[in-house]
Order: sequence, then C-alpha cells, then structure tokens
Amino acid sequence: MSDSAADPDRTDPEPTESDPTETVDPSELTDEEWRDRLSEEEYRILREAGTEARFSGEYVDHDADGVYRCGACGTVLFDADTKYDSGCGWPAFYAAEDDAVTTHRDTSHGMRRTEVRCANCDSHLGHVFEDGPKPTGKRFCINSVAMAFDDE
Ligand SMILES: [Zn+2]
Repeated sequence: MSDSAADPDRTDPEPTESDPTETVDPSELTDEEWRDRLSEEEYRILREAGTEARFSGEYVDHDADGVYRCGACGTVLFDADTKYDSGCGWPAFYAAEDDAVTTHRDTSHGMRRTEVRCANCDSHLGHVFEDGPKPTGKRFCINSVAMAFDDE
C-alpha cells in the first residue's frame, strides 16, 4: 500500500510582473488591435496575405532614393537602391535588408511560391521568386500597401 499524498516539496512558480505602460510588441498585437491600427486594405494584405491589383500600387513606378519600411511596424525592409523595374506590376527588389524578412513556403491558389513576411511583426509583404537580376537573382515582389516609403 502506498500513500498518494501530494509532494511536500512542490512549489508554485512566481507570477511574472508585466508593465502595462510598456510599448506594445507588434508581434503580440491582437487581431482587434491590428484592425484599429491598419486601414481595411492594409489589414487585408498585411494580416490576411492579400494581394493588391497589378499596377495599382503607389510604389510600382516609384523611383526615389530612400528606404521602404514595413507598413505595419516601421521596420526598414528594402533599400531603394535594390528596387528595379521588373514589369510584373508590383514593386520589385533584388535584395532585402539583412534579417528584415522571413520566407515561408506558400502553396495557396494552386501555386508553389515563397511568401515574404516582415521578420519583426510577421506581417505578409509579398512573394520572392528566383528570376531576379544580378547580383542575387531574386525578385522580391512586394505589395505597395504593405510598405511605407521613407526618403530619410
Ligand atoms: Zn513589420
């Protein structure tokens, strides 16, 4: 016969304190908070992996020095120096800033593509293809709505 009494050495973990005044980490925003921060079109593309219509975006033919930031969290994603005219109907870049984006396999719409997301807030930006120019051979095909141009 064994005694099934609770382990007397068991201790409860200390509750962790959270500071309500702290700046919100964009990766921890709730769906509702995202809807408050973004326009309907921004929300559809950034948070629901939508796509703007070809040649509709404000940055398709945009040609100026500066950087393109994430439209959701402000992280610098692309340098205007890497932007080129791909003719695909969306802003195209041959390189992203170091560690600014993550890539994910995307098999939606019956296609095999590589999705590009912001590394900081995980928002959808567009796709990357292997038919870009030198030196990288990559074509980052990014929605204008997902970005904010900054002429720094
Ligand atoms: Zn972001």
